[in-house]
Amino acid sequence: MTRQPGRRPPARPRPARTQQAPPRPGATSEAGPGPPAAKAKETIRVGVSSCLLGQNVRHDGGNKRDDFVAGDLARRVTLVPVCPEVELGLGTPREPIRLQGAGGTLRIVAPGSGADHTEAMRRYAEERVSELERLGLSGYVFKKGSPSCGVQRVPVWRGETQARVGRGAFASALMARMPRLPVVEESDLRDEAAREAFLERVFAYRSPQR
Ligand code: SF4
Repeated sequence: MTRQPGRRPPARPRPARTQQAPPRPGATSEAGPGPPAAKAKETIRVGVSSCLLGQNVRHDGGNKRDDFVAGDLARRVTLVPVCPEVELGLGTPREPIRLQGAGGTLRIVAPGSGADHTEAMRRYAEERVSELERLGLSGYVFKKGSPSCGVQRVPVWRGETQARVGRGAFASALMARMPRLPVVEESDLRDEAAREAFLERVFAYRSPQR
């Protein structure tokens, strides 16, 4: 095609950059030539609950796509999608689960069948968080209200009564291991100021002075 002087070719649409979680680390190297260390320095990775990207991983087979996370944020950083419940092997669709407990002990159970996933989630989270730690995350956007991903105000049930609120099982494991990691729920990113503040924290976390 002949290019006319002074006219630029039309810009190509820029795909959202995401980095699929599984297969697991080790598999985290980015494709392409160049020294791996140099490439890692350039890459800002932010973990994200997969359903926020429009992936149909929810218990009902749907998603909770968030336009900012799946759009602007995905263009500015490399997102690492994680769905703890699917990666745990619960499948989609699946029986809903919830946090249940009394006192300081929290369990993650499916109230319909009574299945208790507490120990499986604990083992999964321990391994997965280690992988994410090695990957060098600089931030995380969690899905609000989820018994796995919610950061705050997740309902905790005692029998059929909501007794209090707590933190999702996977979010809890990740935040315990990486207490300084900038973490938000998608509902915290509703306005421009909050989005920029989160991104500033993410980029500061990556700075060599940290
Ligand atoms: S909130 Fe977390 S566990 Fe639930 S569907 Fe989204 S990514 Fe999966």
